[in-house]
Amino acid sequence: MKSKLNLMILPLALLAAACGTRTQVTKQSDDNRWSDYPVGEIRFINASPETRGAAIYASIIPDPRAYIARHARQVLETLYFSPTDSIPGIREIRYTLRDYDGISAKGGGVPSVHIEYSTRWVERSFGENADTAKLEYETSGVLFHELTHAFQLEPKGIGTYSTNKTFWAFIEGMADAVRVINNRFQESDCPAGGNYADGYRTTGFFLAWIARTKDANFLRSFNRSALEVVPWSFDGAIKHILGDQYSVDDLWQEYQRSRAAKE
Ligand SMILES: [Zn+2]
Repeated sequence: MKSKLNLMILPLALLAAACGTRTQVTKQSDDNRWSDYPVGEIRFINASPETRGAAIYASIIPDPRAYIARHARQVLETLYFSPTDSIPGIREIRYTLRDYDGISAKGGGVPSVHIEYSTRWVERSFGENADTAKLEYETSGVLFHELTHAFQLEPKGIGTYSTNKTFWAFIEGMADAVRVINNRFQESDCPAGGNYADGYRTTGFFLAWIARTKDANFLRSFNRSALEVVPWSFDGAIKHILGDQYSVDDLWQEYQRSRAAKE
């Protein structure tokens, strides 16, 4: 009797152990899938080595190429379900540290993207207090934003970045959503009010809220909606991903109410 009971318990225990192991293995292989992904040749150019900002940058990021590659893979994992998805073929990421009045910018496109980062912004973020953590947080957040532009999909059938506000809001909203979901913004960075199509943080925090409250894969599906919803619209993408019972206006109202309730 006793041995029978043991025999019955054992398979259950094995099953539980196997499930636990399997979950871990799947999770690990999911993460590892991107570790071999060719993010492109990374070229780091220090165009203003004489500046204080360049010296500070070097002290907090000793291996910029590895730092940029790690962020690129994290952006890919945030935007895509799998390396076999339709992903813009970036062959080169040229990253230039330069003394100019601004923060950061992305130029170029497939196959070669260029990202500039301002040494003056490095100096300003570092501040008088030599705040290393603040500067790394900021540098990482800005890099998430710009690298999203390198790898994100673009909406179709509605014009271009410079001719259509919805196109522009998709691009800039997604770049900030990737930054939010990777914890490189504080809740206090979220602007009050506005409209879901205002772009940047206003759109980005809203998209991240949908991902956190409605569908953990939302950002991936939202990125992919650029290929599947033509002509692209916020409402069309929401209905395509979450179902026809949703509308972007209703979701925006719900989001605003949830933010008001927190205050
Ligand atoms: Zn941008």
